[in-house]
Amino acid sequence: MRRWAASILAILWGGAGVLMAADWKTPAETADYRSTPRYDETIAWLRRLAAEQPRRIRMETFGKSGEGRDLHLVIASKGGLFDPEAARRAGRVVVLVQNAIHAGEMDGKDACLALLRDMVIAGSEARLLDRVVLLVMPIYNVDGHERFGRFNRINQNGPEETGWRAQARNLNLNRDYMKADTPETRAWLALWNRWLPDYFVDNHVTDGADFVYDTTYGVDLGPDVRPDQARWTREVLIPGIEAAVTRAGHVIGPYLGLKDESDPAQGAVIGQDQPRFSTGYVLLQNRPAMLVEMHMRKDYRTRVRGNTALMRALLEAINRDADRIAAMNRDADAATIQAGRSASSEAVFPLRLEADGTTEPHPLKIFAFERTRSEVSGTTRIEYGTTPTTITVPRQAGLRVARAIALPRAYLVPAQWTPVIEVLQAHGLRMPRTTAAWEGEVGTYRCDGPRWFDRPYEGRQVLFFPGEGQPQSAATLGGCRPVRERLAFPAGSVVVPLDQRAAKVAIHFLEPEGPDSAVTWGFFNAVFEQKEYAEPYVMETIARDMLAADPALRREFERRIAADPAFAASPQARLEFFYRRSPWWDARLGLYPVGRLAGLEGIPLER
Ligand SMILES: [Zn+2]
Repeated sequence: MRRWAASILAILWGGAGVLMAADWKTPAETADYRSTPRYDETIAWLRRLAAEQPRRIRMETFGKSGEGRDLHLVIASKGGLFDPEAARRAGRVVVLVQNAIHAGEMDGKDACLALLRDMVIAGSEARLLDRVVLLVMPIYNVDGHERFGRFNRINQNGPEETGWRAQARNLNLNRDYMKADTPETRAWLALWNRWLPDYFVDNHVTDGADFVYDTTYGVDLGPDVRPDQARWTREVLIPGIEAAVTRAGHVIGPYLGLKDESDPAQGAVIGQDQPRFSTGYVLLQNRPAMLVEMHMRKDYRTRVRGNTALMRALLEAINRDADRIAAMNRDADAATIQAGRSASSEAVFPLRLEADGTTEPHPLKIFAFERTRSEVSGTTRIEYGTTPTTITVPRQAGLRVARAIALPRAYLVPAQWTPVIEVLQAHGLRMPRTTAAWEGEVGTYRCDGPRWFDRPYEGRQVLFFPGEGQPQSAATLGGCRPVRERLAFPAGSVVVPLDQRAAKVAIHFLEPEGPDSAVTWGFFNAVFEQKEYAEPYVMETIARDMLAADPALRREFERRIAADPAFAASPQARLEFFYRRSPWWDARLGLYPVGRLAGLEGIPLER
């Protein structure tokens, strides 16, 4: 009924009348931004839009959530081009906008509804589809979205009720991009591989200090970004967006992390956009991305409109430079494939980044604040007022490579490590299987003294390496040193060649010291477990025999006792000294089972 009414009004008022526009208000607009629509209302509104404009809007589903809800995708396109092949043939670029991955932060959802309406009903933004096929995930974390309530976002100024940050198993989808533990991430990866978007936007709402900015953005410009892509972002995209969003009446600035939340004058810090995050993951797929963080203290109307203004400006820039963006993406893919054609002997691939120590003065727009001693917390309290001010603070300026590795020609993953293989498959990597057992010398790592975080992180027992910022711990750290070992790989093992477009995903997942590697996320924890133990009375006899047979070993043992009181005082450590040097010690303990191959010659591979 409502659809018919809308069509008749569109005819009567020539498609732009006041009554028709009113009929196409978004649910948030109708509620004067006091509330945001639930899942069913959101999808119903979008279905009505698709039914009204079937040549420009199509609704699809791309999977199911843990609780069984459909994951929806809205495709906005001119001329009914609703599949990736047709879009590319027509010279369009594909932009994916993701909303509500943290479902307490739904500004992007309501902003996208307004933007889609303005594109295909009002027509005021129709030009934004000239060169772009726009994919919108209205609500990505659908189960979190339906854990609806008033008390889900303590720092946030509206709407009245919101969804919840995590999905139904309480996992944060924005830490899941590499390990892919959730059905939502598996569905996301399949969608990504089907469409391979040219640009990605992830809409959020901040936590953090009380800045004046209502609209903030994050982009990657570090040494892991190709120079031409970084230049376009820095010199074309950002100045254009800042100007347009400012003209629209908003205060825009870069998304900043403070060095000390209780003292903004200490300045802002930067770090690696790790691939556990959406934008860091997309970077490994050679694609540029923008993180949007609307400021949580601003009212909902301001935030939704600021988010809309930013996306409008972004889509304008992408429409204007569509050919250039597509060419840069093609070049980035080709360069990745080329780099993977042969093994490198030099450490060329940047696995971990850190701030390079340089800073630059940054004008920080913040509300005037007072710092006082708090009898509640017993420490410094920061209290923000209502007077906007600008303070100049040091802002970390650049990233440098903290850990680089030499690249193999391919990785070889033993068939029995099925959880690892399934994740690699979910990432869409090309990975032929071996047709027969193969044994030979490969490069790999021996990891000594790893430590585990002292509580679960994203439902896993995660391991960490020196220099990693997260998780934090003061425990002593080990590391992985490269070794060459003769290893056996059963039939059905997978070879992951690096001359493929998404090779950086494989490198980050399979290099142990990657911030989001399978080792770091605990997939290989069992490799570090000692499974056999020597009874002390058995080891005593063996130790005596070893000491009698080897004078050099006796001298080493005595030196260790003299130099290391903790060792001298530990009966277990003294016996283990001999166990480790005996043939009974497990040579595979701490040995990473994935091989690094310099070439594929002699490996029995399926064709
Ligand atoms: Zn968020």
